[in-house]
Amino acid sequence: MSELAYPYEAPASQALFDRAAAVTPGGVNSPVRAFRAVGGTPRFMVSGTGPYLTDADGREYVDLVCSWGPMILGHAHPEVIAAVQEAVARGTSFGTPAEGEVALAEAMVERVAPLEEVRLVSSGTEATMSAIRLARGFTQRTKVIKFAGCYHGHVDSLLAAAGSGVATFALPDTPGVTGAQASDTIVLPYNDLDAVQAAFAAHPGEIACVITEASPGNMGVVPPLPGFNQGLKDACAANGALFVSDEVMTGFRTSRAGWYGVEGVVPDLMTFGKVMGGGFPAAAFGGRADVMAHLAPAGPVYQAGTLSGNPVATAAGLAQLRLLDDAAYATVNAVSAQIQGLVTEALAKEGVAHTVQTASNMFSVFFTDRPVNDYEGAKAQESFRFTAFFHSLLANGVYLPPSSFESWFVSTAHDERAVQRIADALPAAARAAAEATA
Ligand SMILES: *Cc1c(COP(=O)(O)O)cnc(C)c1O
Repeated sequence: MSELAYPYEAPASQALFDRAAAVTPGGVNSPVRAFRAVGGTPRFMVSGTGPYLTDADGREYVDLVCSWGPMILGHAHPEVIAAVQEAVARGTSFGTPAEGEVALAEAMVERVAPLEEVRLVSSGTEATMSAIRLARGFTQRTKVIKFAGCYHGHVDSLLAAAGSGVATFALPDTPGVTGAQASDTIVLPYNDLDAVQAAFAAHPGEIACVITEASPGNMGVVPPLPGFNQGLKDACAANGALFVSDEVMTGFRTSRAGWYGVEGVVPDLMTFGKVMGGGFPAAAFGGRADVMAHLAPAGPVYQAGTLSGNPVATAAGLAQLRLLDDAAYATVNAVSAQIQGLVTEALAKEGVAHTVQTASNMFSVFFTDRPVNDYEGAKAQESFRFTAFFHSLLANGVYLPPSSFESWFVSTAHDERAVQRIADALPAAARAAAEATA
């Protein structure tokens, strides 16, 4: 690392990180938080308000992570906080049905037309795991197609990335996932319908479902090419498989009806998380009523959760969804476009090869001048430039995702002052990116 990459220290965060490392593997409870991809001390945050986060050293940052998407109204939105306080005062978990979970399910079903019925869970991982189980139970088939670079949480069978090549059986991506768990997963290159057709042809009557991020954000933002999602839907329909659209990231963020609202392709099953929880652990899966009818206790496919539909989480999620009207999405989209423009302007001025890719208000910057359509393309970027760019912005009070393979997120709270602070920080960051060496 060059000196430039670490222009200042973060002693209070470092002290907390040292304490954390003594009691928690790697010092974090979710790997990307550890800054391994960019180096340096992860910032321990103590508070958030609107578009800002404040760290343990008392530094304020404009937040372009927004908790990886959920905080679409900014941090500590007064109406969401009020709903949470009201709910907390009535008790935090009952282990019985309660009205809040019905109201949240109704709000989701009302917004997303293909969502006829929904089951609430506590994380996106649980949602995709359960959707896959249901798809297998419903179709009585075992195999699942996923795409390289798409992340669906840390579900065993989905922690398999591709070797290159068409229709390769996946090898487990991590120790602890058995060959058996991965062997029913077929990993294909994203945006490649021919590969999907070939996989269906090679495994007639064996494929339970195709799962895809509705518009991928976990390899950086790599939207589906025109016709790709419809092609998946059609291939599934022709082969008796279910089309599972993972909207954990895009749901209620890319539009009022998520990516479905942008593109209009009707999935059989969908998964949700992030925005729908309002910053609390709430997630969901749902879709066709005849498929959901196979879920316990209505049907034989088992699925359950002690804290599913938690009253505090559902109150937060419902309050957030109710505030997300057309004007809110227009605001988020506009501020996103504005920041994209500023980033492009700064990088172009320094002659840094880059491509800004967007999916509604989600966006990311790839340090390559080629459009990125799949994971191979994403990996071909000059990530070392991102590292320099990231640390320069961090030093100047702008908090980006600490990896070049992530979407950036904005909120309705990103006002003129916040955008100006980004604009002020960008020229130095672009220069750092230009001067960076591998
Ligand atoms: C975040 C994410 C998940 C996993 O959700 P968790 O709540 O972290 O378990 C699954 N799918 C997609 C597309 C995601 O972005």
